[in-house]
Amino acid sequence: MKIAILYICTGEYYKFWSDFYSSCEKHFCKDVQKHYFVFTDTKKFETNNTLTIIHQDNLGWPFNTLYRYRMFSRIKEQLANFDYIVFFNANCQFIVDVSLEEFFGIDKKLVACLHPGFYNKVEPDFTYERRKSSMAYVEKGKYYFAGGICGGRRDDFLKMSLQLLQAIEKDLDNGLMALWHDESYWNAYLNLEIQQLEHNVNILEPAYLYPEGRNLPYKPKILLIHKPNIINVNTIKFYTTNSFISWCKEYIIGLMARYKCYIK
Ligand code: UDP
Repeated sequence: MKIAILYICTGEYYKFWSDFYSSCEKHFCKDVQKHYFVFTDTKKFETNNTLTIIHQDNLGWPFNTLYRYRMFSRIKEQLANFDYIVFFNANCQFIVDVSLEEFFGIDKKLVACLHPGFYNKVEPDFTYERRKSSMAYVEKGKYYFAGGICGGRRDDFLKMSLQLLQAIEKDLDNGLMALWHDESYWNAYLNLEIQQLEHNVNILEPAYLYPEGRNLPYKPKILLIHKPNIINVNTIKFYTTNSFISWCKEYIIGLMARYKCYIK
């Protein structure tokens, strides 16, 4: 049994790697062979027996996360050698043991985690992409999932990954980008999968993406480290309270998307 762990850390996000890696080695699927594929622009890490470094330019926000499926497609031949594949957000940190069976489930195709920000909400409060013209459109769903974990059995994962890459490309060609980037496409895919057969998806509760410092009714298993304590999120994502600057930002991102300025 072999698990491929996909990890993206461009720009400052490399600062999360060390804690992610050591906690994952200690707690995740102990006694199962794991190999890490790290997409990064830092020169600080080197490939070794358990780690493959893939140079990835920093595409800027939000393309560093939106274009994850394009990154994964770059190594699809290597991924064909694994039984399970899973992506974790860079700021994940395991704090207790998590077994293969509990994480990937038994006879499940995919694994997804309920979004911790929506644990006490139901439709219509889920922030799905609601524009019918988008490939990420969801009219009504049962759950709202976080983009921080996406995984599954190899063939099911690779099928999903290719389909979402095509959906994202199609939207970009039409000048569209879903509201919450990769997370919106992931939710649209899961929603269909669940409509067909809920058993297909191993649905993890928010204990597996528990935001550090929050008081949620779950016992944390994987912490989401509070990013502003480690990196300057406002600068990376150009957050601003000025509505004119915010409008300019969205406009420029829209232009970049339409003309594919981010592809490197
Ligand atoms: N990411 C990255 N560099 C960036 C921004 C994002 O490597 O400059 C990757 C990283 O893996 C991160 C993921 O994209 O965990 C999602 O971004 P982030 O966690 O900031 O988004 P959020 O989950 O808070 O919406």
